[in-house]
Amino acid sequence: MDCLFCKIIKREIPADIVYEDDEVLAFNDINPQAPTHILIIPKTHIATLNDIEEPDLAMIGRLQYTAAQLARERGFAEDGYRVVMNCNEMGGQTVYHIHMHLMGGREFTWPAG
Ligand code: 5GP
Ligand code: ZN
Repeated sequence: MDCLFCKIIKREIPADIVYEDDEVLAFNDINPQAPTHILIIPKTHIATLNDIEEPDLAMIGRLQYTAAQLARERGFAEDGYRVVMNCNEMGGQTVYHIHMHLMGGREFTWPAG
């Protein structure tokens, strides 16, 4: 399958990996939008948020839990941070393997652009 993030999971493309377990992988975004900008992805290929099914619900929780753990480790959990998942073209998705953006270390505005 020609999926960039599946290739990162299989170590066919290098990435700056910051966390890994049986279900998820987390690595630094190549084009960071904040002092910390980490992508957290499931190890199974799911193209968009629209493709999530009942058996995936625990994994989605693990993405969120991993984000909070990484935020705590980096010391900005209490100050606050931004978690984003973009879906499809209008949502700004460019890589079609679901990923959670964890951004921290600066203040964010709302609404998001
Ligand atoms: P999206 O726009 O789909 O929500 O987010 C895709 C993210 O993947 C972008 O923030 C982009 O910078 C990041 N990205 C794209 N290609 C690579 C890559 O080869 N390596 C890493 N580490 N990040 C990438
Ligand atoms: Zn994939």
